[in-house]
Amino acid sequence: FLREKPVEYYDRTGYYLGTYVTVRVGSKTISPVVLADAAMKEIARIDEKFGSRGSGTIARLNATGQADDLDQETVFLVKSALEVAENTGGAFDPTLFTLTALWGFDDADSEKRVPLDSEIASALAKTGYRRVELDENEMAVRLPEGLTLDLGGIAKGYAVDLAIARIKSLDPQATGFIDAGGDIGVIGPKYGDRPWIVGIRDPRGKSVQDVIEYIYLYDGAVATSGDYERFFIVDGIRYHHILDPKTGNPSRSGVISATVINKSAMLADAYATAAFVMGKDPGITFLPRYGTLVFLVMEDRSTFKSPGFEVYQQK
Ligand code: ADP
Ligand code: MG
Ligand code: MG
Repeated sequence: FLREKPVEYYDRTGYYLGTYVTVRVGSKTISPVVLADAAMKEIARIDEKFGSRGSGTIARLNATGQADDLDQETVFLVKSALEVAENTGGAFDPTLFTLTALWGFDDADSEKRVPLDSEIASALAKTGYRRVELDENEMAVRLPEGLTLDLGGIAKGYAVDLAIARIKSLDPQATGFIDAGGDIGVIGPKYGDRPWIVGIRDPRGKSVQDVIEYIYLYDGAVATSGDYERFFIVDGIRYHHILDPKTGNPSRSGVISATVINKSAMLADAYATAAFVMGKDPGITFLPRYGTLVFLVMEDRSTFKSPGFEVYQQK
């Protein structure tokens, strides 16, 4: 009797969007190398286009303060970012680039330091998602003087969604996942219709092998925002890259890692950042209305889950 040959997985890793991106993909109809190539090309394109620095669309918009010739993709991403901002009462705010740069979290090479209160106050004055004017009909965005976009909390997830769509356009039955520095999207279930097992890192563990919980994913996405990703320590205090848009300081909600499950990697990414800032309350109870399940690890190591999260903890 016939037995199907198992799919062989092909792995590719590259450095994009300030992190290591891994694609694991298998296919019965097309070379997985071709699929991984296509995915990485898409991710490289998003990196260039939506970075706050360089010569991409967002960098140019930040430099000039306005644009009226935007393409659909840019309008969609900016609109999505503003929607998450609205839905989270501004806990997610895609206009923090001036603040991010002030703290030195804009680039691995930037000098990291604790700014003066006065510097934080003047950078804060140059933020505020409500002040972004987006005109969808005109495909235009206008930013008030000094305000700059930072899509760093959502672009990685968007890149994962797009790369997966690209792979599926070449083989709808492709299997695998994409992991962009903790923003993970499923291409298709593991060979044999089994789930991918995602380990949520212990935020204070010694290595990525230190896992605090497992989840099982057949599709959709999961993203984690943690204070261990990018930080520096001064006088025993940890300063990390997820900022509280209200104070301009690294968010101190008691959360040290926020994991979010959502259908879309873009939304998982953005809501993970938001959940980190929102904290246990209202993060856990409020975000499920947006199709978002949350798992939080707190400073004292206690953990909290949205009702329904445990569904993803059964095989
Ligand atoms: P990671 O990049 O480690 O996955 P996040 O997805 O949480 O982490 O995104 C953090 C990035 O988003 C920061 O580096 C910064 O560019 C930007 N950012 C920081 N604070 C916020 C915030 N409150 N809302 C939206 N974006 C933020
Ligand atoms: Mg995020
Ligand atoms: Mg992220």
